[in-house]
Amino acid sequence: MQAAPKIAPFMPPRRILMGPGPSDVYPEVLLAQSRPTVGHLDPLFVAMMDELKALLQYAFQTQNEVTLAVSAPGSAGMETCFVNLVEPGEKVVVCRNGVFGERMRQNVERCGGVAVVVDFPWGAPVDPQVVEGVLKQHPDASYLAFVHAETSTGALSDAKTLCALAREHNCLSIVDAVTSLGGVELRVDEWGIDAIYSGSQKCLSCVPGLSPVSFSPRAVEKLKSRKTPVQSWFLDQTLVMGYWGGSGKRAYHHTAPVNALYALHESLRLLAEEGLENAWARHQHMHQLLKAGLEKLGLGFVVDEAYRLPQLNAVYIPEGVDDAAVRSQLLKGYNLEIGAGLGDLAGKAWRIGLMGYGARAENVAICLKALEEVLQ
Ligand code: PLP
Repeated sequence: MQAAPKIAPFMPPRRILMGPGPSDVYPEVLLAQSRPTVGHLDPLFVAMMDELKALLQYAFQTQNEVTLAVSAPGSAGMETCFVNLVEPGEKVVVCRNGVFGERMRQNVERCGGVAVVVDFPWGAPVDPQVVEGVLKQHPDASYLAFVHAETSTGALSDAKTLCALAREHNCLSIVDAVTSLGGVELRVDEWGIDAIYSGSQKCLSCVPGLSPVSFSPRAVEKLKSRKTPVQSWFLDQTLVMGYWGGSGKRAYHHTAPVNALYALHESLRLLAEEGLENAWARHQHMHQLLKAGLEKLGLGFVVDEAYRLPQLNAVYIPEGVDDAAVRSQLLKGYNLEIGAGLGDLAGKAWRIGLMGYGARAENVAICLKALEEVLQ
């Protein structure tokens, strides 16, 4: 018999999460998650799921019937979009201006699709003019995929223009909104987005581990007319829809993460209570406060002001400063987490998140004070 390990309960400190995610979770959301677990087919839970769908539709600004939360993190949302839509041999124009565009390419290739990669410099947005040229060169392309808010650099791309281009060139659009949802303007129906995914742990300030997704009627039509079955059983939306489909009939597909869904319900309820436009404005306002303070400290931004995400502030690490030592001092001395640089920006930049509940004056002040003291 193997001896039972003697382990104390895990009691994490209350950190201030100002990295690229997870963000600070709303206290109300943590409370919601600790409410009693009910069965995932309990009529009360099913009624909550109907509300959750309406809240997701509001957050995405869509009437899409297929709007739900995948029971897994943002990467699973990404995979949901690609595995359900892309069939072997289909061409996908993939815009790559950071880490997550590259992941899209890998998804396309794992689906047997042909990725036409369009590269942009790190820190720059996707340039619609360049994309238009590529779409003209590839009239047989079926999809245009891009990241709305590139978390690895803090660059915002023009999703409205890019989705209009996709339509003009007879492509479905696949949009990564993991960091954008709830933090910057995003209008799924008005902009004609066909497949979109997000994450619970960024500007929604929910616990990590859920991925809101939404498919337009055009995307659903494509899914239903596939010639090959979706290679992932778990992510196959034709099966998942039986559970999330609405009209009161929910068939077992997998055991829903009941308490995590209470949390998402609460965070989306808080977003609806604040109002989407107010939330977007708050992120912008907090970004302006942070920006003023960072500039006083002599920290320069990676991304041009015109394309800068308010919720993800990438700043260059000053010459001679030890990246890891600063982040460690912030964590140990101030319980403050900021993000390291990723990919091309590793060791060169910090990523300071102002996401959801974290986008408030108190956090901005703490972060600026802590940075000032540590950089002295
Ligand atoms: N896409 C973007 C833009 C992201 O920022 C992230 C995570 O940071 C992901 C996808 C993957 O999400 P997750 O880490 O929840 O799987």
